[in-house]
Amino acid sequence: MGGGSVYGRRPAGSPGSAGWDGTAGPEEGCPRARPATRRVVLAALGGVLITATAAAAVAVTGGGHPSAGGAGRGPAAGGAASGGAAAPPRRARTASRQERARPPVATRGRGAAAEPVYYIDDGPMTVALTIDDGPSPLYTPQVLRVLEEHGVIATFSMVGQNVACYPQVAREVASAGHLIANHTWSHQDLAALPAAAMRDEVTRAAVEIHAATGQRPALFRAPYGAWSPALLDYCAAQGLTPLDWSVDPRDWARPGVTAIVQDILRTTRSGSIILEHDGGGDRSQTVAALKIVLPSLLGEGFRFRPA
Ligand SMILES: [Zn+2]
Repeated sequence: MGGGSVYGRRPAGSPGSAGWDGTAGPEEGCPRARPATRRVVLAALGGVLITATAAAAVAVTGGGHPSAGGAGRGPAAGGAASGGAAAPPRRARTASRQERARPPVATRGRGAAAEPVYYIDDGPMTVALTIDDGPSPLYTPQVLRVLEEHGVIATFSMVGQNVACYPQVAREVASAGHLIANHTWSHQDLAALPAAAMRDEVTRAAVEIHAATGQRPALFRAPYGAWSPALLDYCAAQGLTPLDWSVDPRDWARPGVTAIVQDILRTTRSGSIILEHDGGGDRSQTVAALKIVLPSLLGEGFRFRPA
């Protein structure tokens, strides 16, 4: 899968997942996503032109991209550690998290970033939870219930096709106060697409998300974390912050609830952006893991804010 250029570096132990098990496009039972109407396409193109012009006026530079890294991605990159037997004692880990309050790489700041963002920077013990690939009529409501129970606000990276299928579910996410990020129209590896198709994946999703929820996402998450120079430049031109992640329990591969929980608790520290999934396949393990992870992290003193 994600064979395109991959930028940046994740912390050790977070190899970067495909984030999609390839078993699902639109959710099972989803009515065929309606094709974009002529009016919607024209509206999207109009928005692109206006935004691109405005962005050019403030002279956003495309430079500064790190050279392409070779981080292996995709399901073949090895299964998540399901045992977790080598985990160090928890007390020591908590202390070291607080010491490492300063995020080592790009953090979420104001305006569009030239590089993907791997951490948030909002003080010690603050983290962000991101939920990708929905909305799903089956799993998204379950995730929403867990979040509500623990008073956690998250960021949902939505796939436009799924929003078109389940606009009411997308609305429920928005009305519960969560942030919505653009996760493309059909979850393709954008680094492997021609420029026009890449742009269409972003704008179609933006139009659909806005139509369903009223939100205009300011965050964009690339499927598979596959960033290309063209995609980063387009994000900058659109005023979209490229959002990556720093904690990846590979829940999409269904390694078992315990494995997901242990991975998150072992690797989360101040500034972490945690990646989980409510769409793209069977996410019952993710829901079960969140029921354990959220009270655990809150009990350790972590605070959640949207990415
Ligand atoms: Zn995804």
